[in-house]
Amino acid sequence: MSKSFASSADLADKTETLEVLDDGVYALTAEGDPNVGAVEGEDFVVCIEARATPVAARDWLERLREHTDKPIRYLVLTHYHAVRTLGASAFGTPEIIAHDQTAALIAERGDADWASELERMPRLFREPESIPGLTWPTLTFSDRLTIPLGGRRGSLMLAYCGRGHTAGDIVVWLPWSGVLFAGDLVESAAAPYTGDAFHREWAASTLDTVAGYGAQTLVGGRGAVARGKDAVTAAIEQTRRFLLVLGGKVGAVHGRGGTLREAFEAAHAALAPTYSGWPIFEHCLPFNVQRCWDELNGIGWPRIWTAERDREVWAELQG
Ligand SMILES: [Zn+2]
Repeated sequence: MSKSFASSADLADKTETLEVLDDGVYALTAEGDPNVGAVEGEDFVVCIEARATPVAARDWLERLREHTDKPIRYLVLTHYHAVRTLGASAFGTPEIIAHDQTAALIAERGDADWASELERMPRLFREPESIPGLTWPTLTFSDRLTIPLGGRRGSLMLAYCGRGHTAGDIVVWLPWSGVLFAGDLVESAAAPYTGDAFHREWAASTLDTVAGYGAQTLVGGRGAVARGKDAVTAAIEQTRRFLLVLGGKVGAVHGRGGTLREAFEAAHAALAPTYSGWPIFEHCLPFNVQRCWDELNGIGWPRIWTAERDREVWAELQG
């Protein structure tokens, strides 16, 4: 039996849970769907991630409004992916912050990514016609950006940890609270997506930098909040192991002159015992293996995923 394309058959709604992680620090998780967050300043709110459509974002904002009615001053995008950026208009904020490379990726491939992700994850695109267009960051940075929260609330730090899930991922760090929003650089019992990734750098220096924060609480891109140092370390190391096993298996097949399909089968066999029960494992793996293969072929800058190329790779590897 052939598998349904990506997450196109995943149509059952997930339960969303709003968690208060500290005074004025919120995360909304959803059983493996993309997580979002918010941090209160003295007289404003910083929101983290925008969801796939304004209608989907509005549901999250309604939940947030049960806790605070402060105006949203900043929307932070951890990276360029459509399911995290295209709902931005619902936040009504003039300031959208992202990494320099995220702005460049949106300009280069935002339209193609929108079409690709819509077909891969239709359930996340609630009322896609509510999307007014691509989301353009208004404030970008290359290394670090600090937002003073006012009063005695300390500050919120945005930091680039190196290339990883994309060329422009950033994390949101609250030093006074020990909470780290890691975007898709870390997944907590959900499969990492690496179709736009830099596998070796991500698995080494980038995750080392993420681990170096010594977070007490970590909100990954998908999956439950990791609470406590052991759980934080486990989430980071699960992600790292996934990348290393993937890279090792694909690399071995590539090295002996095997085929892409053989590389996919080897990676699948090695990863499935640990990861196959996790959300989006089957969905991600063909795209992950293809990108890993491209890197081994010397393609440094990730090729653009289009709805068409998605189907071709899917048919070749999962068909
Ligand atoms: Zn992503």
